[in-house]
Amino acid sequence: MATRISEHFLREEFACNHCGELPYDPPRQLLEILEDLRAEFDSPVIITSGYRCPIHNRNVGGVKHSRHLEGDAADVKVKGVDPHDVYVFLDQRVGSLGGVGKYNSFTHVDTRGARARW
Ligand SMILES: [Zn+2]
Ligand SMILES: [Zn+2]
Repeated sequence: MATRISEHFLREEFACNHCGELPYDPPRQLLEILEDLRAEFDSPVIITSGYRCPIHNRNVGGVKHSRHLEGDAADVKVKGVDPHDVYVFLDQRVGSLGGVGKYNSFTHVDTRGARARW
């Protein structure tokens, strides 16, 4: 059964894409950022990658100490919104709470507790 963990997100959306495991609940801070992202563009946020188990992280070529392994990261797309615009919003919103990474088709966000950008 699906478990709602914030207004618009289910716990299952953050599970490993390869095995369905999710040892950690996504942090409250991350959920608040994703809810604000949804509100900003008034459009659904799709989690393309949340938690990754070590096998999956290796398979997708993730960095060794990826925040996805810690369960406090999400790669996201906002339906109908350019990833660049998503990055610009998240850069502001996340500030020094965590990391924001820009990619062609998605944006990475995490709440590592220190500022990181790429
Ligand atoms: Zn897995
Ligand atoms: Zn990522």
